[in-house]
Amino acid sequence: MLTIDDLRKTAETCVAEEPARLESDGWWQPPLLAAAPVDSRFDQLPHIAAADHLRPTDLLPTARSVIVFYIPFKPQLVQENKPGQRPCRNWGLAYVQTNELIGRVSLAIRDLLAAAGFRSGLTPATHNFDPVRLMARWSHKHLAYLVNLGRFGVHHLLITPAGCTGRLGSLVTEAELGEHPLMDTAEACLLKAGMQCGQCIEACPVDALSADDFDRNRCWQRLNENYQVLDCFADLPASTDVCGKCTALMPCSFKNPVDQL
Ligand code: SF4
Ligand code: SF4
Repeated sequence: MLTIDDLRKTAETCVAEEPARLESDGWWQPPLLAAAPVDSRFDQLPHIAAADHLRPTDLLPTARSVIVFYIPFKPQLVQENKPGQRPCRNWGLAYVQTNELIGRVSLAIRDLLAAAGFRSGLTPATHNFDPVRLMARWSHKHLAYLVNLGRFGVHHLLITPAGCTGRLGSLVTEAELGEHPLMDTAEACLLKAGMQCGQCIEACPVDALSADDFDRNRCWQRLNENYQVLDCFADLPASTDVCGKCTALMPCSFKNPVDQL
């Protein structure tokens, strides 16, 4: 009988082995993984994410559970990305390599489930969205919120117990894994919890953020522009649309700051 710990161990092993595979130090800390049964909570997706957001059963008609994992970046990388108005080379490289790693973690979990007789449904780590509306038809972020892996911050990213400077992946499976949330607080963003902060708003180089709004197009234009203007991104794929300034060394970068009060 497979348990959530088996899945977590598989994800951890996959992330831990990646630096040796790449013959580098790697950018990652141990991942978090949460799961939830396919139930009526996912009916909210068209309302909270996008009108045409897929349901778990659209990926796999026999889906019984949704699994979402979060791979946090090492603080050194986040620190390196802090100075200036543009992302550093390593931030772009880490984005590209993490997309591949998310795929590998998803496949490793799928294989583990398959060995126990359960099928899974997967989607790519990113670029599965409508470029005009900029809303994902399969949003790992909204899935992560619904399985209680994190809460949204004012920067519109998910704040998990290990912070917000990392990447998410998700899959659905026929296995009935049960409810495995990771959040203890109703909010994880200081400002949303009624406390002082707003540091992400200050850090955005194009003023895309405010306490109650997010100019998605302005952010997206900046991400594209970064790729166009940065010579150090020249050998990276054109899909390297990154910034990360609103997550660099914030109170929520590496933890849930509301939980630490
Ligand atoms: S930097 Fe502050 S206001 Fe912005 S998301 Fe994090 S906790 Fe919330
Ligand atoms: S990713 Fe960059 S442009 Fe987008 S909201 Fe954050 S700081 Fe602003």
